[in-house]
Amino acid sequence: VEQLKERLFEIHSIAGRFYYDVLQSEEGADARSYIEGRKLQAAVSRKFGLGYAPERRNALMEHLKEKGYAINDMLQSGLVIENKDKNGYHDRFRGRLMFPIFDFQGRVVGFGGRIIGKGEPKYLNSPETILFSKSRNLYGLNFAKAERKKELILVEGYMDMISLYQGGFRNVVASLGTAFNQEHARTLKKFAEDIILLYDSDEAGTNAALRAIPVLCTNGFRVRVMQVPNGKDPDEFIKQNGALEFSKLLVNAVHYISFEIACIQKKYNLDNPEHRVRFATEAADILSKLDNAIERNVYAGEVCRMTGVEEAAIRSEIDKRVQKEE
Ligand code: ATP
Ligand code: MN
Ligand code: MN
Ligand code: MN
Repeated sequence: VEQLKERLFEIHSIAGRFYYDVLQSEEGADARSYIEGRKLQAAVSRKFGLGYAPERRNALMEHLKEKGYAINDMLQSGLVIENKDKNGYHDRFRGRLMFPIFDFQGRVVGFGGRIIGKGEPKYLNSPETILFSKSRNLYGLNFAKAERKKELILVEGYMDMISLYQGGFRNVVASLGTAFNQEHARTLKKFAEDIILLYDSDEAGTNAALRAIPVLCTNGFRVRVMQVPNGKDPDEFIKQNGALEFSKLLVNAVHYISFEIACIQKKYNLDNPEHRVRFATEAADILSKLDNAIERNVYAGEVCRMTGVEEAAIRSEIDKRVQKEE
């Protein structure tokens, strides 16, 4: 198994080089203008090893064959797959902009391929292999860990991570659209104490952030949350507004409790007394989960100001729930 692993690392490294070279060639012209269109600097594109998988059906496969690799190793790498009618094999990635996925030591263990024209799916990713576990890997950790910051910014996508890096924010990792889970948290725990959760501002991103919060909290992280305005994602925001505007948002990242309260508030109209009751009650549920009594007090004050409910009332509801827990 160790020898197979070694060969799979070699295959990924060769594939990364291959896609990279194709991107610089005539075949890579459209992908190069795509990269330019997304305002990625050449040096950054190089740093992240971006490449292009040609349209040709067997391009990588033939290349690996020339290098002496057996078809079985190619299949195990996930980069080559069997034809539907089992009469041969072809490359998994064709006609896509290629993002190598690194492990935390910086070795290529998989790829994400983005379509550059129209079509589905937008991203195609390597399957789980003996090198690549989606529930453990965090994109960009090999770069972020070198910064030795106790704080990491967690984003959704390849381009979010890369654009922030280009903007000078180098303590960023991406969960690549996979639900953030316990294994991710344990991986991050070795490198950071504080997490700034920065998922897309659309509904999917907000819900994913709400689900990531308890996972991060149970693993002992201090968690703050931020979102860029107008339903955008961090990549779009920083391209449009620049690094300075982004850093202004970053310093205003809020405690996760404020984020949770703001999320439930959207369900209610606080001009309506009945809604105020339901909102304040739901907020009390959330606040009662905080271990720290001072924190409970501070955020109870926030709910008071939002609803006009007296602090004593909210506090007594919180205390009731806390006592039940104990
Ligand atoms: P882009 O900016 O290139 O359009 P994005 O990162 O903003 O992409 P999202 O839809 O926000 O795309 O998805 C976040 C991440 O989830 C992607 O970067 C990718 O890792 C993953 N992802 C998105 N769509 C798919 C898909 N169809 N299959 C697998 N993974 C996907
Ligand atoms: Mn998204
Ligand atoms: Mn995007
Ligand atoms: Mn996005």
